[in-house]
Amino acid sequence: MADVLTYVLHYEGAFNKNSLGAVSEGAARAKDIGGECHAVVVGGDDLTDDLCKTLGQYGATKVHRAKGPEGLAQPVIDVMAKVIDDGGHGYALFGGGLLGFEIGAGLAARKQAGVTMEVTAVRAEDGKLVAERPILQDSKISVSHYQGDLGIIIGRINAFEIQQDGSGDAEVVDVDVEYSPWSNQAKMVTRGEQRGADVDIEGADVLVAGGRGLGKAEGFELAESLAKAFGGNSAVAATRAVVDAGWYPYAAQIGQTGKTVSPKLYLAAGISGAIQHKVGMQSSENIVAINKDANAPIFEFSDLGIVGDLNKIMPKLTEAIKAKKGS
Ligand SMILES: Cc1cc2nc3c(=O)[nH]c(=O)nc-3n(C[C@H](O)[C@H](O)[C@H](O)COP(=O)(O)OP(=O)(O)OC[C@H]3O[C@@H](n4cnc5c(N)ncnc54)[C@H](O)[C@@H]3O)c2cc1C
Repeated sequence: MADVLTYVLHYEGAFNKNSLGAVSEGAARAKDIGGECHAVVVGGDDLTDDLCKTLGQYGATKVHRAKGPEGLAQPVIDVMAKVIDDGGHGYALFGGGLLGFEIGAGLAARKQAGVTMEVTAVRAEDGKLVAERPILQDSKISVSHYQGDLGIIIGRINAFEIQQDGSGDAEVVDVDVEYSPWSNQAKMVTRGEQRGADVDIEGADVLVAGGRGLGKAEGFELAESLAKAFGGNSAVAATRAVVDAGWYPYAAQIGQTGKTVSPKLYLAAGISGAIQHKVGMQSSENIVAINKDANAPIFEFSDLGIVGDLNKIMPKLTEAIKAKKGS
C-alpha cells in the first residue's frame, strides 16, 4: 500500500521539529505515490486530542496515539509494528537522531524490512519511494530502492523541511498495543541538555567554529578557551560532521541544515569548507581559517589563512589574545 507511517516525538506538550519535518516529507511523498501519511505518537496524558490533531497542519491525515513511555525506542517499535500490521503501510519514514536510528534498526529487524539511515532526500519513482543517502564523507550519493512490503527511511537530523500546508485537523485514533516484555525494561531517568546546547551563535560577534580537525569532542575545549579569551559576545560553533559524531550539540551547527550566521569574526578551526558549510557563514565580515592542508577549500573564501596544526596554533592564539586584552 502507498501509505507512509511516521513517528513523532514530543516533550512537554510540544512536537519535536525534526519529527515535524519528517511528517511534512512523509505527507508530500505519500501524495506523490497516491497515498496518505499517518503519524504515530506514544506518551501520556499530555498527548491531548487538540495537540495530536495539529499534526494535520503538516499533512498527516491520521494520528495513531498509544499510551506508553515517551522517548524510548522499544515501545515505539511495538506500536509502529502493530499499526503497520493492521494498516499495511508501505513505508515508515521518520527523523534521525539517536532515537530515530534505534527505532529504525529495531523496526527493520522486527518486520524483516530494508532500512536506509541518514537519508537527505526522498523521491517517487514508478509509484515507489526511493531514498538518497550521502556516503564517502558526503562526496557521493547512494540510492536505495525497496523490495518487499515495507521500506524504512530515516532522515538525517533536520534534513526534511517543515511545511505547514494549512490542511485541517488530523483524525486521532487510540491504539491498544500489547508491549513486548522487554519494552518496559528501560526507564527514562532524566533528560538533559548537551554541553553548549544553550549557545546563541546567531547573535554572536565572534564565532570560533570547530570541525573534524579538532579530532574528538574534547578538542572543543580549544575552541571554548579561544572564545572565552575573546570575551564579550563570543561563542563556539560547529560543522555538521562533528555534530553528527556527537562532539557538539546541534544548536551550534552552521550551514545548509544548521544556522546561518554573519558575525564580525568567524574563526574556522579544522574545517574543510564544504559548500553546505559555506552557505551558512560566507557573509561573515572577517573569515580566518586554521587548517593543516594548504589546499583546503576554506582558504578560497577566507580573509586570512593559517596553514598548520591547530593543536599548536590555537593555544598560542588564545594566550596572545589574553595577553593583548590583559586578562
Ligand atoms: C544534504 C547535506 C547537508 C549538509 N549540511 C551541512 C551543514 O549544514 N553544515 C555543515 O557543516 N556541513 C553540512 N554537510 C556536510 C558537509 O558536506 C561536510 O561533510 C562537512 O561540512 C565537513 O565537516 P568538517 O569540515 O568538520 O570535516 P572535514 O571535511 O573532514 O574537514 C576537516 C578538516 O580539518 C583539517 N584538519 C585535520 N586535522 C587538523 C589539524 N590538526 N590542524 C588543522 N587542520 C586539521 C583537515 O585538513 C580538513 O580540511 C551537509 C552535507 C549534505 C550532503
